[in-house]
Amino acid sequence: MVSVLICGGGVGGLAAAIALGQMGHAVSVFEQARQFGRVGADVNLTPNAVHALDRLGVGEALRANAARPTHRISRTWDTGAETSRLPMSGAAEERYGAPQLTIHRADLLAALEGAMPEGVLRFGSQVTEIGQDADGAWLKLADGTEHRGDVLIGADGIHSRVRTTLFGPDNPKFTGLVSWRGVFDREKGGDIPDLDAFTKWWGPGSDRQIVTFPLTHGKEIFVFATHEQEGWAEEGWTLPGDIAELRGHYADFHPHARALLDACDSVTRSALHVREPMAAWSKGRITILGDAAHPMVPFMAQGACMAIEDAVVLARALDSVDPAGVPAALERYQAARIPRTAEVQRSSLANEWLKSQGNADWVYGYQAWTTAV
Ligand SMILES: Cc1cc2nc3c(=O)[nH]c(=O)nc-3n(C[C@H](O)[C@H](O)[C@H](O)COP(=O)(O)OP(=O)(O)OC[C@H]3O[C@@H](n4cnc5c(N)ncnc54)[C@H](O)[C@@H]3O)c2cc1C
Repeated sequence: MVSVLICGGGVGGLAAAIALGQMGHAVSVFEQARQFGRVGADVNLTPNAVHALDRLGVGEALRANAARPTHRISRTWDTGAETSRLPMSGAAEERYGAPQLTIHRADLLAALEGAMPEGVLRFGSQVTEIGQDADGAWLKLADGTEHRGDVLIGADGIHSRVRTTLFGPDNPKFTGLVSWRGVFDREKGGDIPDLDAFTKWWGPGSDRQIVTFPLTHGKEIFVFATHEQEGWAEEGWTLPGDIAELRGHYADFHPHARALLDACDSVTRSALHVREPMAAWSKGRITILGDAAHPMVPFMAQGACMAIEDAVVLARALDSVDPAGVPAALERYQAARIPRTAEVQRSSLANEWLKSQGNADWVYGYQAWTTAV
């Protein structure tokens, strides 16, 4: 048994806390937010992530509010012609042992929070400093208190303090692309076909695309779009955007694609940055996971899925480890995870994933509970 400090109670931090707790470790999660609000929008959970979450015991809570896309479709921006169609739902369940689920980020966090033992998750706890010494790892909170453990996990997202403390400032490059997110009530979708599928409209060139999928049992529909924009590069999840401006960028798209944007009342926007895969994630008793370790552009919609896979593999690396064995366990974890996440980072950036008919097994068929670690 080891004592584990987790900085950040987002998707990856909570999943890691549940897995580590089930293995008998003593876990504390420090989350800066005072509570989870209904911020953000979508999370796409492909079978690789749903399989991992099912074994964590949160499958039922997930399914209470998720949607289950019927297909994964690619369409051409102007004609609407299909260039690929993968059956998901029951077909994915049969092939990979789990379906694809799409869910509001707040509903995913609520499902994970519901599986946390009492007292593990500490809201209103902003980590200001971290470090390690001969006796273990430690973190300091904004209220001045210090907490010690045998291992410290940085699950603190894209602007990770733990990552910069371990490895120095990162060097994100603006892609020149801005992304937009919106959600509308299904009734506003009119005659748009395949609203129960995950559909990507591929634009001319690489900058414009629209992705849509159902949320909340199909009662809500999520829309994601990108386009080129110079001179504005703020990275954030909740910055408001101008819906009229967004519609203007897609005026030449197929009417069904434009109707998706017409149905949104409001949108958030964020500038997309790219970071190179890292060579290492761990130093001694401290490691990182999720967006802290491998921030990626969202073109494969795998950000949350990779954080969930990391959480399970990290917990498995620490299974039955005593305090002296922590540094070696963290080395095993990063050796198991860096090649896969680097491939997804690069593949997301290339933005060709399933544009035409292809085999999704290398992503959807990954089994975090049994992969070698
Ligand atoms: C507010 C918000 C909204 C989002 N909305 C979307 C969305 O709509 N669609 C989408 O695809 N992805 C969204 N994401 C990102 C998505 O959740 C992640 O890409 C993915 O789930 C990877 O998860 P993660 O655990 O690595 O990071 P995250 O889920 O981002 O979690 C990081 C957590 O660490 C906490 N944290 C950061 N610094 C500190 C600190 N110093 N001390 C304590 N806690 C700290 C943050 O508050 C956050 O809860 C959002 C993230 C956030 C934080």
